[in-house]
Amino acid sequence: MQVKCTICGGTSDLTKAHKDYPKLAKNTNYTYICERCSIQVQAEMQKHQLFRKK
Ligand SMILES: [Zn+2]
Repeated sequence: MQVKCTICGGTSDLTKAHKDYPKLAKNTNYTYICERCSIQVQAEMQKHQLFRKK
């Protein structure tokens, strides 16, 4: 199944072994974020959390 990353727009081929496959198969509006972008998003969120604590 081909899915499009919401952030970078890159397409990935999801196999049934992928953790998000059941969600994406049921709901085509489910937002898929590729691994590269999810790492960036997590890093951004951590930065914000650190910033808020100050
Ligand atoms: Zn992406």
